[in-house]
Amino acid sequence: MKKYQTIIIGSGFGGQCAAINLLKRGMSDFVILERRDFVGGTWCQNSYPGAAVDVQSPLYSISHEPYAWSQMFADQKELEVYTNHVIDKYKLREKTKTNCNVTKVEWDNEQHHWAVETEKGETFYGQFLINASGPLSTPVIPDFKGKDTFKGKSFHTNDWDHGYDYKGKKVAVIGSGASAAQVIPAIAGDVAELHIFQRTPHWVLPRPDYKFSPIQQKMIGNKYIHKAVRTAVYWQLETRLIGFKYSKLALGLIAQREAEKFIKKQIKDPKLRAAVTPDYTIGCKRIIISNTLYPAMCQDNVTLHTKDSSVASIDKTGINTSKGEHIDLDLIIYSTGYDATDGPISYPIIGKKKQALGDKWSDFPRAYLGTTIPDFPNFFMVIGPNTAIGHTSAIFIIESQMNYIMKAIEATLDQGRKAIEVTEKAEDKYTTMIHKEMDKTVWKTGGCDSWYKNKSGHIIAMYPGFSFTYHLKTNNFKPKDHHFYS
Ligand SMILES: Cc1cc2nc3c(=O)[nH]c(=O)nc-3n(C[C@H](O)[C@H](O)[C@H](O)COP(=O)(O)OP(=O)(O)OC[C@H]3O[C@@H](n4cnc5c(N)ncnc54)[C@H](O)[C@@H]3O)c2cc1C
Repeated sequence: MKKYQTIIIGSGFGGQCAAINLLKRGMSDFVILERRDFVGGTWCQNSYPGAAVDVQSPLYSISHEPYAWSQMFADQKELEVYTNHVIDKYKLREKTKTNCNVTKVEWDNEQHHWAVETEKGETFYGQFLINASGPLSTPVIPDFKGKDTFKGKSFHTNDWDHGYDYKGKKVAVIGSGASAAQVIPAIAGDVAELHIFQRTPHWVLPRPDYKFSPIQQKMIGNKYIHKAVRTAVYWQLETRLIGFKYSKLALGLIAQREAEKFIKKQIKDPKLRAAVTPDYTIGCKRIIISNTLYPAMCQDNVTLHTKDSSVASIDKTGINTSKGEHIDLDLIIYSTGYDATDGPISYPIIGKKKQALGDKWSDFPRAYLGTTIPDFPNFFMVIGPNTAIGHTSAIFIIESQMNYIMKAIEATLDQGRKAIEVTEKAEDKYTTMIHKEMDKTVWKTGGCDSWYKNKSGHIIAMYPGFSFTYHLKTNNFKPKDHHFYS
């Protein structure tokens, strides 16, 4: 029987931060289970052309792991190198079992541990279970009529096939979100035709990126300078929340006006300008930051298909639009996102009452500090409900969650108990507060449909406040909000 004190599912920044925090506290009896054949998560998986972070790298990095970034917004290749640097520094590869797809986890009321089953038929046991399987790690392709009959090449941006040469080909990108906005300018100059299928336009703002000179790069690698830049970027980004929540006027007057000017500056054609202008308040959906998307859309070989010429069906040779056109294609790129809100965990989780988490969440996903759930003892969810953040770095949130998770585990062990569970009352109070605050945000009132919202209409992806308030809450562990038992 393979029993560990802690099992971590997923080896992205969430899994890495959990592992590093356990190691720092001397709790090294853990294993990381990873379904892929490599370690690292998002930035080792998403290698599509143009992939890059949209939060400044000194902030989109682990707080105690400074790095000599070559540019303000690192591209995927540099993030992959950084990820591997962290993994190797803490020897996490040795602690990870790859090709280990978790298919079910179940709490054992007698043994006080989790039984973690994998696709290969193995079972691992762990007293504590940290789910770091990623909010955006299971790609979704809508069930377009005839999708499987297409004889050309097709893949999701998450699973880019580098063996396929797209140069000179007739290509469609379905989707217009953050990944599409990066792929489109990266390939537009190389393909014969590029058809963009946009269901809803996104607001776009300029990307304040720049390459560091060799001297600056060296300086940014210094831990004190890294920290100073990180702090400056953090507070600059934090002010965005004022617009997202407290001042629609600031959003309209500053951000939306800037985005409108940006459209006018970069696009001359009035029809294209109209087609890319959203009809909802800026911030309601994730804001895209790109200097190259609009110029790519203006190229002669690029056609934007909007709602009135959407994908009606796919056949052997291409896409049939709702306008009745047939578009001949060699390659279809699905940039159709992830199941982040309705199926945020890819495997069933059975709690102490033998109830599946999916059933408990039949109304909408909810968790205390976005991390713990009544009836699911010793279970911690990294980037759980209402912890995603539109205006700053996800890694800041992950590291904040670690404060709470580690304090909860330590409190259980210090008391000589076997299990900890958040109380219904504490979770309910927290979730009620979250949705009351959410009502004031642009995500709720901005007039858009987005992946932040689940089918119940609740915004379950975002945290409706300043990220430092979340950080403070996670730092302030409240034993009275929990049951401990042996
Ligand atoms: C293309 C893209 C761009 C992004 N850009 C930004 C950005 O600019 N700024 C920002 O703040 N955030 C961004 N994000 C969000 C990103 O998800 C987080 O920043 C962060 O990387 C999440 O880390 P994670 O460890 O929680 O998840 P991941 O990095 O997704 O890692 C999860 C790991 O769990 C594994 N896993 C999943 N299910 C199982 C299973 N059943 N069994 C075993 N292993 C499993 C996965 O294979 C994966 O390796 C982006 C995400 C994507 C996809």
